[in-house]
Order: sequence, then structure tokens, then C-alpha cells
Amino acid sequence: SEEALRQAQKMEVVGQLTGGIAHDFNNMLTGILAAIELARSKIETGEPAGIPRLLDIATSSAQRAAGLTQRLLAFSRRQALDPKPVDVGALALSMEELLRRTLGERIQLKTTANGPLPSAMVDANQLESALLNLAINARDAMPDGGVLHVDTSVQALPDHAESNATDTMFVVLSVADTGVGMDEATLEKVFEPFFTTKPIGQGTGLGMSMIYGFVNQTGGHIRIRSVPGEGTTVRLYLPIAQVAAVEAEEARAQAVATGS
Ligand code: ADP
Repeated sequence: SEEALRQAQKMEVVGQLTGGIAHDFNNMLTGILAAIELARSKIETGEPAGIPRLLDIATSSAQRAAGLTQRLLAFSRRQALDPKPVDVGALALSMEELLRRTLGERIQLKTTANGPLPSAMVDANQLESALLNLAINARDAMPDGGVLHVDTSVQALPDHAESNATDTMFVVLSVADTGVGMDEATLEKVFEPFFTTKPIGQGTGLGMSMIYGFVNQTGGHIRIRSVPGEGTTVRLYLPIAQVAAVEAEEARAQAVATGS
């Protein structure tokens, strides 16, 4: 059945994920054990001079392992969302100072909100961390500087893959950079947990997958347009607060009417 297939695909992803993590973790443990073994043999042969260096290796390996588990925990902890009506344009403006500091001197930040906009039904903390994450990705994509446009508007989804979403309007938070962009292969994998093209220690590969999860849980959509050498635009389509409230009320009324 379709459900069984979906489940099997999920298990495959989980299998690949845990396999990769187990491999990394095992490498770190191997490093720690080897350092301990060597230190022990140095004690036995009476050459203590090399021992501090071995302890340093064991310590940094253990720290990396701890960092990995920490990130895993943060990822698996499905935070309960607390959606409330949020003025997304105001939220973006309130983060300008933080974003400017994050982006550095060579990247120009332009924040705009198009007119008085309806509120979005969204968890404000999660949206802030999503915006910060997107800005960090944009910064990393613009090593020689550039411009980051953060823009809030009201729009319908550009594509109509979801049959009932054709004329539904959303509050759209758009984050556009003039960076390196992504090729097809990167775009295809961008939402996969732990997918990163960044050097070890710089990227976790969790940012985009967490944003994807949060936007989906919120009842919104995420779309990316990216051109290698030109830049990337990420758009978060967030449900409008009134519409969300009306739909919830309709669903409740229907449930009452059908007695379900
Ligand atoms: P991380 O930033 O830790 O690598 P993410 O999940 O946030 O993890 O992003 C995954 C990958 O997607 C990045 O490593 C990068 O290759 C690509 N990516 C994300 N955002 C951008 C962007 N704005 N411009 C170019 N590439 C991006």
C-alpha cells in the first residue's frame, strides 16, 4: 500500500542517517581509545613526555562526539509550537540589528515590508530562529560580500501542486541573497538532515531541514529559487492568522455537524 511504501522510505532515510552518525561516532571513539592505549604504553615504557599530547587528542575527540550528540538531541527534540498571530514584517525589522551583526560589514541588509500586512499564525521564536538560520546561510554564500534582501508581503503559492491551495493567500517572508547559489544536485538535497557542503565543524546540515519541518508543522510552505553564480531566494509561505482561525472554526463546525 501507499502507506507501507512511505513507511519503508522513511525507515530507509532513518537507516542512512543513523548509519552515517554511527560511523562518525565510531571514528571519534576509535581516536579516544587509541590515544588511551598509547598513553598506557608510554606509562609502561617510562616515557611520560608524550602523554599530555595524547590526552589532548582524547579530549578533543570526546568533545566532538559530545557536540554531535548535542546536535542530534536538539534535532530530535520536536519542539511544541506555540502559534500566535505575528506581524512578520515587524518581527523582521526587530531583528535587523542582530542580522546586521551576523552578516558583517561586507553584506548590506535591506529589510522591507509591503504595506500593512495581515498577521501570520506562527510560532514567533521559531520564525526568528528560521530567519537567523537563513541569514547565516546567505552570509556563507556571500564570502566576498553582497546584498541580503529580507522582504515581507502577501502572496499566493506560485505553483499549484496542492489542489486546494490555488487561491489561498499567505504571508510571505522572502530572504534573497546575491551569493554563489546552488546547483541542481544541492537543491535536491537541501532539506535532508545532515546534508551540508560546508567544511567539517562549520556546517551541521540541520538548518534547512529544521526550517522545513517547522514551516510544514505550521501549515505553510517553503520554496527556493537559486541560480548558480547569481544567488538564492528562500520564501516561507505562512498561513494568514484570520484565515487559519476561520478554517479551524469551519473544521470544528463540521466535526460538530457530522458528530465526529
Ligand atoms: P548548513 O548550513 O549547516 O550546511 P543547511 O541545512 O542550512 O545546513 O544547508 C544545507 C546546504 O544547503 C548548505 O551546506 C549549502 O550547500 C546549501 N545552502 C543553503 N542555503 C544556501 C544559500 N543561501 N546559498 C547557497 N547555498 C545554500
